[in-house]
Amino acid sequence: MGMQLHSQKNHPLKILVVEDNPLDRALYKRMLTRAEGPFDFRIFETGSAKEGLDLSRQDHMDCILLDYQLPDADGIDFLRTLRAEGDSDTAIVMVTGQGCEKTAVEAMKLGALDYITKSSIPDGFFVQSILNAIERAQLKTQISRYQRELEKSNAALSDFTNTVAHDLKAALRRIISYCDILREEVWGKLNDEEKGYIDRLSVNTQRLHQLVDDLLSYARTIHGREEKVQKDLGKVVEEAREDLGAMIAETGAKITAGPLPVLSVYPVRIKQLFENLLSNAIKYRSDAAPVIHVWAEERDGEWVFSVRDNGLGIAPEYREKIFREFERLHSQDKVEGSGLGLAICQKVVELHDGRIWVEPAEGGGSVFKFTLPKE
Ligand code: ADP
Repeated sequence: MGMQLHSQKNHPLKILVVEDNPLDRALYKRMLTRAEGPFDFRIFETGSAKEGLDLSRQDHMDCILLDYQLPDADGIDFLRTLRAEGDSDTAIVMVTGQGCEKTAVEAMKLGALDYITKSSIPDGFFVQSILNAIERAQLKTQISRYQRELEKSNAALSDFTNTVAHDLKAALRRIISYCDILREEVWGKLNDEEKGYIDRLSVNTQRLHQLVDDLLSYARTIHGREEKVQKDLGKVVEEAREDLGAMIAETGAKITAGPLPVLSVYPVRIKQLFENLLSNAIKYRSDAAPVIHVWAEERDGEWVFSVRDNGLGIAPEYREKIFREFERLHSQDKVEGSGLGLAICQKVVELHDGRIWVEPAEGGGSVFKFTLPKE
């Protein structure tokens, strides 16, 4: 067994038998008390659903062995009431008659962990089924506890990040304002060298401000909460292009797109992906005006997307490195950037179970390629 069942001699596993036939109850009890192993059972029993519910409210049971047909209710009603009252960590094993698969399936949907047919009980799997169900219930409880803790600590971390980013940006904006004041008030009294210092102070502070924004967007892309939706990727490219409107107008970039599919994606992240690839294709341009084409092909059960530019191109030794955080091959002074854009792209693609890479384009430039699985 994968996990140590939480049972010791002084902490016996509590089993509630809800079964109206006294002979069956006696049989279950005998099998449980005679079972061999490092565990001990404490058995509660009742013939009515009402009393069964009362007993389980009074005392936390590790497992309820539930007959599917009781004089005052059926097993499914019993389960519904139990779950409605918020009990989610008791293991339920349903005991059904022959040919009651439908009841069994319904019981499993309501969280029963196993079912046994009455006729199979003497076969000897009985005790093991109960132990397995208890183990699974304990695991489920533990997992949901970890999950709650994780969600809480993620939320706390995200609050912390937002506060730090906000305060940092406020301080940086103040520095930028003071540089502006210096320019207005004392510019005339400064020599060129002194003016240069102020310019550099201002530019570097602006970069730091941008870096904080980029880091935030990186953290949000990775940890943000988002549901997948069916999205027309042609529309996504269109939206990304609109967001880059100023850059496109400034550089005279031409962006065209072939037909793109509708896929189930994280919409905000996928837009960020296209926006980063398109803005890089414009940023790292050669002397010619940027000409960019986006298209998709179906290949081996997945979609392969391409974003081709006629820009500077990327030397073979850098084609893998550029996807790492803070890796840049163009110096800060030539092109602004923090080296997080492609790292974000890679994370987004991986979150969709895809891959991303870059190939040289014919006649110079690069083709960034990524895959997204078909449904
Ligand atoms: P940033 O643009 O902020 O520097 P990225 O992670 O987006 O960061 O890109 C990393 C590096 O990869 C860039 O600094 C640049 O040198 C190179 N690069 C990215 N896209 C292209 C492209 N389309 N053409 C040429 N080089 C590129």
